[in-house]
Amino acid sequence: MDTTDRPGLDAWIARGQEVAKQEAAARAVARTRRFDTIAVHGLYNHVAAAANQGSIIEPAYNAPAQHFPDSDALEAALGYLMPAWGYSRIANPTTHYLEETLALLEAYGSGLTASSVVCGSGMAAVHLATNALLSLNPDMPAALPNIVASAKCYGGTFVLFKRYAAERGIGLRWIEDPLDMDAWERAIDADTRFLFAEVPSNPALAVVDIPALAALAHGRGDGAGPMPLIIDSTVATPAILRPLSLGADIVIHSLSKAIGGSGLAIAGAITARHDIPIRVGTDDMRADFATHIKLLPLRDFGPSLSPAAALSLISDLRTLRTRVDAWSRNAMKVAGWLSAHPAVAAVSYPGLASHPGHAIAERDFQLADEDAGPDAARYGNLLAFTVRGGLPAARRAFDRFDIVFRATDLGKAKSVAVIPSVSTHQQQGEEGRAIAHVDDGLIRLSVGGEHPDDIIADLAQALEG
Ligand SMILES: *Cc1c(COP(=O)(O)O)cnc(C)c1O
Repeated sequence: MDTTDRPGLDAWIARGQEVAKQEAAARAVARTRRFDTIAVHGLYNHVAAAANQGSIIEPAYNAPAQHFPDSDALEAALGYLMPAWGYSRIANPTTHYLEETLALLEAYGSGLTASSVVCGSGMAAVHLATNALLSLNPDMPAALPNIVASAKCYGGTFVLFKRYAAERGIGLRWIEDPLDMDAWERAIDADTRFLFAEVPSNPALAVVDIPALAALAHGRGDGAGPMPLIIDSTVATPAILRPLSLGADIVIHSLSKAIGGSGLAIAGAITARHDIPIRVGTDDMRADFATHIKLLPLRDFGPSLSPAAALSLISDLRTLRTRVDAWSRNAMKVAGWLSAHPAVAAVSYPGLASHPGHAIAERDFQLADEDAGPDAARYGNLLAFTVRGGLPAARRAFDRFDIVFRATDLGKAKSVAVIPSVSTHQQQGEEGRAIAHVDDGLIRLSVGGEHPDDIIADLAQALEG
């Protein structure tokens, strides 16, 4: 190409701004739509289809890199001066469509603007989000930062936080009963970087009062605060729980679970509302946390999501609301049946009146369906139960399952179960399980899309044998 024919750097930047404007307009249109419509279409509209040879489904761009027409375009793109993808570790058109849909669904009904970044696993999301908030800050007191977190959380998260504590001396303050607001209040001080809770938690199905916790995180006037509230709502999904609309700042998902219900991908996501109250990092990071994570730490650490996995997740999202609705009903039926079974000592499911967080769950877990009527509370497809006779009895029943798969998984079309004390929560040790209230004989059951009576029949023969 003759250099005099080149449009030049400024022209590329202007072109990029035009593309960004069109995308902002598409986002504004999408925000006016219902949850299901956003889940099915996201930002992939007729214009996008025309640019992709008419394909009505988002294509998987599996190439690691994008070709640029000239060196100016390359310079503008890699300098983040125009929207482009450049290199798939940093950005990719297919993962971009997934991020846009997730951000819209998570902010649904809140009036808030949010952004998402997807990454290679749920643990990568937990790590990227929390690590970014634990950096040293020359403006802050010399004391080491601390984390205040619900002890009722995923085993991987529990072990990650313990690693931060052991390797960096970061303070770790576990809240044993996440419904105890005084315990949260007592644990916070001027060096607390964030509050973290899982709703509902895996495997204990604990809930927290998100609005009350957000008020605590944002409202402390004694130098301890404001600070962000991070909620891992993997088990709920935005189909029934949208923590941003309840006051949370950052939402974590393992997309490997209920969002990726067909079970074809390992992936994670961080979604954050804009302008969050953090006291470390740059103005950019405060203004748009998820995009900051995408452009810098994700680029540098490298746990990017494959475009093929992103496409399968985009596909799963289209049916999210109907799926979570149906599977929640199945789980409710199974939970009710288990509660009445003589071999079962206890059942933990937020939909049961016996659950200590039931009233909060009933208030906050609302199906994103304006036509659902007054009875829109749904509680997800995860439950846990303890078998009378402790671990030996739990193992006996567990080993007899014929339909339910024995696997460290949840949220899928296929029902799966684990005994957390000997699997997912083994590595946090006996003491760690005690503060997280993971009983040895607990069976975690994720109820899938099978007919619930077939799952009940499988449980019946397993418990009666
Ligand atoms: C599975 C899970 C994670 C971790 O997700 P991966 O995709 O397996 O890395 C985090 N949080 C919760 C609540 C989970 O269930």
